[in-house]
Amino acid sequence: MSPVPGTLTADIEAAARYGGEGTGVTRLAWSGELRQVLGWLTEQLEELGLEVQVDAAGNLIGRWEAGSGKPIAVGSHLDTVPTGGRYDGALGVLSGLQAIRLLKARGVEPRRPLWLISFMDEEGARFGAALFGSRAFVGKDLSDLGERRDTNGTSLREAMSELGFDFENVPSARRVAELGGYLELHIEQGPVLEAEGIEIGIVTGIVGLIGFRARFIGEANHAGTTPMRLRRDALCGAAKTVLALRDAGRARDDITTNVGIISAEPGGFNVVPGAAEFTIDVRSATQEGYATLEPLVRETLDRIAGEESLELELTEAYRLEPLQMAPELMDVLEQAANAEGATNMRLPSGAGHDAMEVGRHVPVGMLFVPSRKGISHSPEEFTEPEHCELGARVLARALETLLA
Ligand SMILES: [Zn+2]
Repeated sequence: MSPVPGTLTADIEAAARYGGEGTGVTRLAWSGELRQVLGWLTEQLEELGLEVQVDAAGNLIGRWEAGSGKPIAVGSHLDTVPTGGRYDGALGVLSGLQAIRLLKARGVEPRRPLWLISFMDEEGARFGAALFGSRAFVGKDLSDLGERRDTNGTSLREAMSELGFDFENVPSARRVAELGGYLELHIEQGPVLEAEGIEIGIVTGIVGLIGFRARFIGEANHAGTTPMRLRRDALCGAAKTVLALRDAGRARDDITTNVGIISAEPGGFNVVPGAAEFTIDVRSATQEGYATLEPLVRETLDRIAGEESLELELTEAYRLEPLQMAPELMDVLEQAANAEGATNMRLPSGAGHDAMEVGRHVPVGMLFVPSRKGISHSPEEFTEPEHCELGARVLARALETLLA
């Protein structure tokens, strides 16, 4: 007798009990709340006959051992930011659980194994190191993170040891070579699907991004006695940059640009700013768009420095290459959405996900479901129950194809 599928909506409620308050959820990495929800997930998976393991990096792996060959994995994360929502990450894990229930109820006999993975600390909210579990899973060197401390002064090493984990063992979590592919469902965290009235997004790629710190140096001087035409006003250069980058981003549909922090020195009502510092974040989901980002920033700043007689110091703060989704998995997901009668469109992801790390090693595909008003990392985060259930059905159908 096949088990009767529970509802995903009930699972979302159940998981939100751990660390939940109102519609908000706080489940930081290596916390009691996260340990408890992983315990609940373990029970659900074991009831379905899966074997559950937790690796040295705290990733939970539920294994449906069947057939032969490399497993297909489905997953996301159950950690949240402080006072986050019920859906970011959790929906990917729970829709994977629901997909397994649907496959079991349909009597599907996979010809290769299926894994459900809940990655540890995707958000990086506690120790400032995002994608911890997925980075460990792909074998990245994380040895310099052990002494990172949270706001209470607890180090990552200590937080892990409180739960019985040994930071020194993290490298043994490297298992990506065993996988044959990875699917992840996630809330969009943006407004596009809702605005277009479309139920399912097929993700084409995850953005690559570059961050810069910029400093314009001019000349501080008296704001009353220095003639306007003789000023070297560093803040005016920064202001011009803000608008020039905004306009460059608006003129194209494949890049975004942002200046998020700005300050002027020495700072006074009556002082012409002699220096201005600001940050720049530029992103693109395509290789072609990504390749234009650094030249765009450098040319824009050099030009404005010349126009305003300023000196420029520009340093790179961070950089991440974009990731293209596997075309064959995009097709499988699209066919699954069509078969479920779900309206769908292809779109890029502006946020990073565990799929970004896994996808540098094995083919990955991602599904988005709509986020109300595009809001995430907030108790306001919401996805219609019908969209959650539909997403799980699309995921189940795609998995059925891949496991056949
Ligand atoms: Zn997430």
